[in-house]
Amino acid sequence: MRVGSGVDVHAFGPGDHLMLGGVRIAHTRGVVAHSDGDVLLHALCDALLGAAGLGDIGQHFPDSDPRWKGAASARFVSAVLAMLRARKLSVVNADLTVIAEAPRIAAHREAICLEVARLLEVPAERVNLKATTTERLGFLGRAEGIAAQAVVLVSEG
Ligand code: MG
Repeated sequence: MRVGSGVDVHAFGPGDHLMLGGVRIAHTRGVVAHSDGDVLLHALCDALLGAAGLGDIGQHFPDSDPRWKGAASARFVSAVLAMLRARKLSVVNADLTVIAEAPRIAAHREAICLEVARLLEVPAERVNLKATTTERLGFLGRAEGIAAQAVVLVSEG
């Protein structure tokens, strides 16, 4: 067994929706990002890469590369999963946390868990999603952006 963790943050910017865990969520802001700015999938990719000892998402999908401009982050997850497969690593479970004042996650929790499980090709009960605020403290508390944390366990063989 190997464990990995990942963290990501994006600033809010103009827009009317966010991508979170591959799910489009209507919101009063968008995020500033080179790709679709899906913090949850970016944190998940880093957790998967960390578990495999393969560095981080910036090394594999640099934001200086025009190929990834506006890219659906689901593509990053699929590419990372293929890297793990090539090393005979499979995902046991993923525990995800969104940290933001808004949007509220509860109404989207099930859809996000299902989509992340689909991307990871694991049963939905292997994906857990939590959400918290920072009690209005700091940049997240001022709703200047959104953060996510991911922890994954992978098994060898
Ligand atoms: Mg990111």
